[in-house]
Amino acid sequence: MNPLRPVILAASASPRMKRIVTATPVTAEIVRRFVAGEGRDELIPVVRELLASRRLVSVDFLGENTTDRAQADVTVAEYLSLINDLAAMNGFRDATARTEVSVKLSALGQALPVDGPAIATENLRILCTKAAQAGVWVTVDAEDHTTTEATLTAVREVRAEFPWLGVVLQAYLHRTEADCRELSGSRIRLCKGAYREPHTVAYQRSAEVTDSYLRCLEILMCGAGYPMVATHDPVLILAAEQLAAETGRGPDRFEHQMLFGIRDPEQLRLAAAGNAMRVYVPYGSQWYGYLTRRLAERPANLTFFLRALVSK
Ligand code: FAD
Repeated sequence: MNPLRPVILAASASPRMKRIVTATPVTAEIVRRFVAGEGRDELIPVVRELLASRRLVSVDFLGENTTDRAQADVTVAEYLSLINDLAAMNGFRDATARTEVSVKLSALGQALPVDGPAIATENLRILCTKAAQAGVWVTVDAEDHTTTEATLTAVREVRAEFPWLGVVLQAYLHRTEADCRELSGSRIRLCKGAYREPHTVAYQRSAEVTDSYLRCLEILMCGAGYPMVATHDPVLILAAEQLAAETGRGPDRFEHQMLFGIRDPEQLRLAAAGNAMRVYVPYGSQWYGYLTRRLAERPANLTFFLRALVSK
């Protein structure tokens, strides 16, 4: 694992750091690389362009750790409008070419002091009801490990009514192999994991995380569900292709997923080769947490940021 990662993630939690980063003019340039825009007016042309290049999309309205009920309601309203907009862009290729929204339960109210998990679960149900009518998919993002159990509980509950509801599992968590076994019959997005986690719950070394990812991927690929292989790592992308061939999974029975702005040529290559290639596209003004996780993943991103800062 990148040695700077825990340092950056720890520093990013400081309110002072947040004020400095968000007030720095150069930040806007970096944000544009990873975020499609602040509003749907900026998002929609980006989505159209991705769909035209044979890629699929999962759109995330940025926001997390909401401690204000009114803000959670605003988030739900924005997602309902977003689902409408995405539904209008569905079906450009075939039935599996659905658009998708990704959502964090902490943006839907999970962290509210009173009844947070119940409010977030109800809000998730509202989004799924609308998405089912519109023919859009929903996948629930994974946040830090203190939320994992509550998130999976909410997903299990809502999935009883909406079996297509997806959820993200993080290979760096010790528990994830067991979660993959339990959930391998459903839509699972497998990623490495982007938060700062203690060694008591998560693998710390990158080789251990990769090994865990491979074990989890094999479980999902051998299962009856729909694996969503969310990684930019060439070793894991190749492993997914090999496992798909061994298990007889065609391109309609699993998909590759990457983040907007990362390894664009590889995204295009996978799509052109006939694979389902979905891009996770974030938009909105609450980009700080998302951006710091992207900076922490790759020292080169931080160097780019610091260089731009110094050159101003
Ligand atoms: P890495 O080993 O980190 O990267 C492999 C290669 O990809 C690098 O060598 C580099 O070339 C490129 N790369 C990776 N990251 C960057 C970057 N930031 N900037 C530039 N190049 C980069 N994490 C969560 O904890 N919860 C989630 O819900 C979640 N959802 C995700 C959804 C999708 C679709 C994807 C693709 C990732 C998601 N992640 C999520 C993030 C994930 O956990 C990893 O932090 C991230 O994908 C980097 O890991 P990697 O598998 O790409 O491998």
